[in-house]
Amino acid sequence: MLAELRNKSWQEDLSGPWLVKADLEPYLTKWSNYEGFTLEKFGESEEKVPLHSLKWGKGKIKIVLWSQMHGNEATATLAIIDIIEFFHRLVIENDEELKDLSTKISIVFIPMLNPDGAQLFTRRNARLVDMNRDAIKQQSSEMRAFFALLNGLKPDWAFNLHDQRTIFSVGAERNCATLSYLAPSPDFARSKSKSRIKTMQLIAGMHQKTKSLLSGHFGKYSDEFYPRAVGDNLMAANIPCVLLEAGSFPNDPKRTRARQLIFQNLIHAFSLISDESYLRYSIAEYDAIPENEQLLRDVVFRDVNYQGQICDIALQEQQAVIAGQWHSHYILDDLGDLSHLKGIKEYKGGQVVLKAPLMLQGKVNLQYSNQTLKILIIEGRIS
Ligand SMILES: [Zn+2]
Repeated sequence: MLAELRNKSWQEDLSGPWLVKADLEPYLTKWSNYEGFTLEKFGESEEKVPLHSLKWGKGKIKIVLWSQMHGNEATATLAIIDIIEFFHRLVIENDEELKDLSTKISIVFIPMLNPDGAQLFTRRNARLVDMNRDAIKQQSSEMRAFFALLNGLKPDWAFNLHDQRTIFSVGAERNCATLSYLAPSPDFARSKSKSRIKTMQLIAGMHQKTKSLLSGHFGKYSDEFYPRAVGDNLMAANIPCVLLEAGSFPNDPKRTRARQLIFQNLIHAFSLISDESYLRYSIAEYDAIPENEQLLRDVVFRDVNYQGQICDIALQEQQAVIAGQWHSHYILDDLGDLSHLKGIKEYKGGQVVLKAPLMLQGKVNLQYSNQTLKILIIEGRIS
């Protein structure tokens, strides 16, 4: 059935990491004509870009999910598009199981809650507000519109979809945390409230059904309470809220693996909610998901001779949109004994030639020389 995701197809015309509202427009136009779907404008961003939701299903159990609350975190938006297109195809095929699902649940999809931040490729909105710290004051027009939608909908389940940084690792192998879960805490005591227990059970079910797809790459986020965050506040208001964080995987800069894992996890979640089969799973299974650590860096050079000392060098990629143009470069993250860290890419020091002094957080330009297999760090200073 849905769980088999037969003939699944990804919308290969779209990819991250820089995804803007204009990229969604052709889809919004299509969706407005899809049978069984209702497209609505529910508000505007600070820059007056329309905020859209798409409703599907007639069931009593109401689910809401949103992505790109942080503008530079597009992976889950792509997964949402994949799900909508998948459902549409099943509607055309008159799929019995999808019809059955539509009588039990209804879903409100909100792809791209922060279109201004998406355009600028920033976490924050156009007025520099971090929406995930604006759940109480609701100073941003986006959060006001979002909470008005939530208050009208009164959802039974919520899914808060994000991307996480490349530093997050899982387990002793320090694998990339390609997908991370969290049942957020409702208070500083990190209480296991009724809604939180339900969320933990659902996550345990989602994890059990998908963990073999990319073994060793599933983690769990810290459950520290963030009093201004959206998920924590929904949980405090007794609305079960699942946080999903798309993460990295080696040689997958567009996060296709995470996109597929989010797709699969959400489809399983809909099914687990629709027949309450998530109740079969336990808090212990949730607790057993390993907690993320921060032991990965994008690039690590081992045993580099730097000014007469042998040391490791770690670099992190910085991505930005400046004056409408995509930019990417590395900065020096750390230098010294970095044996506790693992590089998503690692190189032996003998391959490295330094052409300039290094500076912490300074820009580093890498030049790869194919003939000698040497990597030249040609600039270590902030330019
Ligand atoms: Zn985020």
